[in-house]
Amino acid sequence: MFDKILIANRGEIAMRVLRACKELGIPTVAVHSTADTDAMHVRFADESVCIGPPAAKESYLNIPSVLAACEITGADAVHPGYGFLSENARFAEILGEHNIAFIGPKPEHIRLMGDKIEAKRTAVRLGIPVVPGSDGGVTSDVEAAKIAKEIGFPVLVKAAAGGGGRGMKVALTADELSNALSTARAEAKAAFGDDAVYLEKYLQKPRHIEIQVLGDGKGHAIHLGERDCSLQRRHQKVLEESPSPALNTEARDAIGETVAKAMRELKYLGVGTVEFLYEEGKFYFIEMNTRIQVEHPVTEMITDIDLIFEQIRVAAGDPLTLKQSDIKFHGHAIECRINAENPVSFRPSPGRIMHYHAPGGLGVRMDSAVYQGYSIPPYYDSLVAKLIVHGKTRTECLMRLRRALDEVVVDGIETTLPLHRALVGEKDIIDGNYHIHWLEQFLARGGMEN
Ligand code: ADP
Repeated sequence: MFDKILIANRGEIAMRVLRACKELGIPTVAVHSTADTDAMHVRFADESVCIGPPAAKESYLNIPSVLAACEITGADAVHPGYGFLSENARFAEILGEHNIAFIGPKPEHIRLMGDKIEAKRTAVRLGIPVVPGSDGGVTSDVEAAKIAKEIGFPVLVKAAAGGGGRGMKVALTADELSNALSTARAEAKAAFGDDAVYLEKYLQKPRHIEIQVLGDGKGHAIHLGERDCSLQRRHQKVLEESPSPALNTEARDAIGETVAKAMRELKYLGVGTVEFLYEEGKFYFIEMNTRIQVEHPVTEMITDIDLIFEQIRVAAGDPLTLKQSDIKFHGHAIECRINAENPVSFRPSPGRIMHYHAPGGLGVRMDSAVYQGYSIPPYYDSLVAKLIVHGKTRTECLMRLRRALDEVVVDGIETTLPLHRALVGEKDIIDGNYHIHWLEQFLARGGMEN
């Protein structure tokens, strides 16, 4: 096992990893920017190192600074959390060159899945169904027009290096294609420094269903069921649940086994998520995330498996002792992402939290790094807290979620709490009857203004 783990992240995920390390008895190091001196993860860790100014590029994304912090403190492993350096294959390699373990997948798998065109090719090779589209990147408008005609409009132009919903443009008709291509290319170039794009059929009413996997890097891999993340705004997840109201045991086992088998073949190491769109009983692979995800707690709540423990153990070279038959799903879990944003305009709302109260009681979990009097800095993402609720059934879970949402107090800034309170009262949500465009349609018809 590791002697000391450095957490190269901030906010709730840094706290989440610190909690796991504490329980495992592993000393911890927090790193932080000058904007995060008063952050909870800094107070909670055994040691802390300031690694630069507020801009993430100069601190949380600054590889030499993170490496220096490891050297100074003698950390022999780095947990990257999500975002920042978590899917940077070069960072994982550099750590390796310095005999520091990266708590994540092998660099070659990060690289492979980071290129969405290569990821799709790999999925096909491993027997995973994909969204119909171009076989590789599209270079010219003429070629794109030909492929779009073959797969049929509407089509989606996507960035090979994409992430966070950026570099994605819909073309409803042939007339819109050339515009969509140039906008997606420009956005991709600006965001990722790579303007490679590809085409996919644009699905009209799919659900976003993703499979959680865990592998030991030696050929043993299992799945931990699915998460339904169909409630999205601008391709960003807002609320997630497991199990998906759209799947039965048979469908879950079938897709889970397909994915687990592929991970065994890859000799995948660590946790990962294989993302699909699901429409009319069919799964279509879109991408794989080679890291822990924001929404991992819903899986933990229904499996009682600590995904961060498992991630640390397999990174340390321990064999994965869990077998597929050990994974038992019980009850239902829902997560609400509470962001520091206006609930109607979604304008960011950083600032000081004057009053804060976290909900409690049976089946209620609040993952957060804020406290009363804490100032949310304007430099990073707007996640304030994740409220995760578990119940024996989906009905019980929703009942408990309504109660828990009523208990939360975050005063002084605007948050998306009113949105979540509205959502849990909507008939379609109560019935589990929604798809990836549902939330945008709800907002467009003034669902939050009435
Ligand atoms: P990113 O890496 O930017 O998050 P993804 O490929 O994971 O991009 O897609 C994010 C979201 O965009 C999906 O959850 C879905 O809502 C939407 N999306 C992606 N591909 C398609 C598609 N072919 N048809 C319809 N919606 C899509």
